[in-house]
Amino acid sequence: MENSQDLRIKMCIKINAEDFVTIHHELGHNYYQRAYEKQPYLFRGSANDGFHEALGDTIALSVTPEYLKTVGLIDKVPGPEGDIDFLLQKALEKIAFQPFGLLVDKWRWDVFTGKTKPADYNKAWWALVRKYQGMKPGNERSENDFDPGAKYHIPGNTPYARYFLANVYQFQFYRSLCAQSGHKGPLHTCSFYGDKAAGKKLGDMMAMGASRPWPEALEAVTGTKEMDATAILEYFAPLKAWLDKQNKGQQVGWKAE
Ligand SMILES: [Zn+2]
Repeated sequence: MENSQDLRIKMCIKINAEDFVTIHHELGHNYYQRAYEKQPYLFRGSANDGFHEALGDTIALSVTPEYLKTVGLIDKVPGPEGDIDFLLQKALEKIAFQPFGLLVDKWRWDVFTGKTKPADYNKAWWALVRKYQGMKPGNERSENDFDPGAKYHIPGNTPYARYFLANVYQFQFYRSLCAQSGHKGPLHTCSFYGDKAAGKKLGDMMAMGASRPWPEALEAVTGTKEMDATAILEYFAPLKAWLDKQNKGQQVGWKAE
């Protein structure tokens, strides 16, 4: 309410697992804003816009069954037999999104540079959907249609690569904070809940706001200036092994043209 200590959220929310994660995402924005509020006005922002979207999700990755038990939301921690279901659900949310997260701004950047002419707006959109998502429209589309406009961020002129970047950063942050907290075992079972040192590391980075180039903010948490998607592979490794088995002998993928 006053850009400092009074954090509130107004949101239509249901008491379920999905909204429990969403509230972490949204509060991530608010705690980030609070962390950098002492910065000069122009630096009151995230290191880059992907950081702002990644913050709450990084915390939400610590919402493991053990964590839910610790905070009294479930009575019994389910066994590892539920891990594949859990990881598949997470992958449908985080991995299946990435092709779309990439193509929205790819389309927009080509429009802004003039590479894509107004007469080809819709055609260029579907070419990207086919290339990255492997989908084609359910019926004939033409330039009388403007399908990109159905995505809020296009008419709303909101950059979109931030969500793609966030899905990489959050696993990178999470892996580092898990290492910081001394986690042993598969990455997806880690919760750094209650770890003061991990929290301080994240908090110090948030407090930098936009005062330093983003690779330095990344380094403050992860020890590297390079964006690195290998934490995603590590997190989903058990699922990848399972999927490889399910897909044995199947043709995976599609022709882009
Ligand atoms: Zn957000």
